[in-house]
Amino acid sequence: MGLIFLWFFVTIRSMIKFVLVGFLGAILGSFAGAQIWRLRARQLVEDKKAGEKVDQKELKKLSPLIKKISKDRSRCLSCGHELKWYDLIPVVSWVAGLGRCRYCKAFIGWTEILLELVMAGLFVASVACL
Ligand SMILES: [Zn+2]
Repeated sequence: MGLIFLWFFVTIRSMIKFVLVGFLGAILGSFAGAQIWRLRARQLVEDKKAGEKVDQKELKKLSPLIKKISKDRSRCLSCGHELKWYDLIPVVSWVAGLGRCRYCKAFIGWTEILLELVMAGLFVASVACL
């Protein structure tokens, strides 16, 4: 009985550790995804300033992402609606909304969820290999 309890305790503890570490990885994956879009927006603005030909549609879509860091909030790339904290929970928000924006129902895309899942997987794998 004692051994079964010990096995159960160790298993639950390991699972909690993997979930927490996986969620940390997903958070960092989500952050990385957000920064990728901001970098692309800044790149488009710089390219335009330098006189290069840029995709105006893409520039218009991404330009709301360029803000002062104090006013920088995540927003939907389709409707521009500022996202609430519960729209930004890695993996959970994407799955809950079936990959669509809560406000305009536009498809968010696979990049965000894949980044979050891959980062979560890498974090869990790195802890599992310890
Ligand atoms: Zn939207």
